[in-house]
Parts: sequence; C-alpha cells; structure tokens
Amino acid sequence: MRGLRAGTGVGGRRAAPMSPAAPHANGLPPSAGLETARLAELVAGARTVVALTGAGISVPSGIPDFRSPGTGLWERVDPMEVAHIDAFRRDPRRFWQFYAERFATLAEKRPNDAHRALVAMERHGLLGGVITQNVDMLHRRAGTRELVEVHGSIAACVCPECGERIPLEQARERMLASADGVPRCERCGGPLKPDVVLFGEMLPAAPLARAGELCAGAEVLLCIGSSLEVHPVAGLPRLTLQAGGRLAIVTQGETPLDPLAAVRCRGDVVQELQALVRALGAGEP
Ligand SMILES: [Zn+2]
Repeated sequence: MRGLRAGTGVGGRRAAPMSPAAPHANGLPPSAGLETARLAELVAGARTVVALTGAGISVPSGIPDFRSPGTGLWERVDPMEVAHIDAFRRDPRRFWQFYAERFATLAEKRPNDAHRALVAMERHGLLGGVITQNVDMLHRRAGTRELVEVHGSIAACVCPECGERIPLEQARERMLASADGVPRCERCGGPLKPDVVLFGEMLPAAPLARAGELCAGAEVLLCIGSSLEVHPVAGLPRLTLQAGGRLAIVTQGETPLDPLAAVRCRGDVVQELQALVRALGAGEP
C-alpha cells in the first residue's frame, strides 16, 4: 500500500509553516483523498517547488478552456482561424472584432482560490515560482511575485513594426477611438497586437528560457490545470524529470505525462489546492 505513513505528517523538513497542533497526522481534513495527502507530503518534503499552470486553473474564474466543448466564445469561432498570427496580419479589423470581445470578457475576471492558494504558498516560502500558459493576468492579480507568462498576457499591446508597447487600458481607449476598431501605434501607425502568443507564433525566448531554468531546478513540479499537450510548454516537465525532480499533476483531464507523475490528483482544482495549503499550514495569503 502506498500513501501516508501514520504520524509522519507533512513538512517535517520545513520548520516555519507547519502547525504542530494539527488535529490529523497529515493536517488534512478526513474527506481529502489519499492522493491529496501524498501531494502535501511530496511538496512539503521538497526544497524547491515550482508550479506550471494552464487553462484549468482559470475555469473556476469563469474563463472557459477553449479545448473543452461547449464553451461560449470559442464555440462560435475557430481559435486557430481567428487567433492566428496570419489572421492578424491579413485582416487586423476582423481580428480585433473578435479580440475586443475577448479583452472585455477577460478584463472583468477575478482570481479564484486556486490562484490565491499559490500566492499563499509563495508567501510562506513553499513555492519558488509560477509558470503559466494563461494570458488572463489572474496570477498577477492574485499577487504571485515570481511569475513567468510564457504565452504573454493581455496586460499590454505591442506594435509588431516598431515595438511600441502600451498597457491594456490604453489599448482599449485607442480601440474605441479608432474608426475601424483597430488600436494603432502612435509612432508608426501600424495595427497593435495583443502581447500574447497567437497561434502560428513562436514563444518569446526569454520567458521560455526562464521557465526552463525554473523547471530544471525544481525538486517538484506542480502541474495544475494543464493538459500538458501544447508544445513547447509540454516539454517543461521533462526538464524537471531529467534533472532528477518529480512531477505532481493536478487536473481533471488526462495528460500524456500521467504515467510519469509521482502524484496524480484528479479533483476540483480549487479544492485540491485549498487542501494542499491547509495541509502545509500555509493558511490565508
Ligand atoms: Zn509602431
């Protein structure tokens, strides 16, 4: 039988955050699953933990994962068609007709308790950083400090011609002020592009390199809400494994790396992370 050894608790090698008076040996509520307990044990015993998050962590904030069927905006358009760099180059007006709606939808979303759980872990010294595939700014809004947004974020727009970069709010103002709904560069007049990686674009080198560095240095890589199918991000967990680290995967769907995971939690992402934070004694952010 695998699982918790009675009385071992979690975080024995970590001094500060653990509560010696926890009612259960592992600090978890009795309802928490065995894998959740094993996750807490794994995280608590690691010197460096890094999180890698995907669309699943933002679903409880009301942002649908477009890879799942029946999800609003993406149901009516083919993301490969409209959110493609060629679509932007070919017809910025049509691109922005679509993207304006996405901007408006994302701009009003708020972080959820799963984002906040990672902030709590970071503040307690239990998490070395968050790498995210999400462009929704929710980790930033929640307060994560060491954050690598490998697909960029909607926080800014850039001019592909001259490199001008302006914040989201300013881009929205220019969008509203322009006759055709396309925000334009004030320096060269070219159409601005959201500072996110569109389909057909390369990932920016610096964030990807930083992500690789974090993953290679992680004793535990906590993969949350990602299908781990989209390259090159899907290759990051291998860097952890190659360096002798271990994977913990928290997501409801299957991932190609499931057979390689030391711990595999399939519960609701908010519940799993809240249980983890409680077990680690990291409490409120
Ligand atoms: Zn420009």
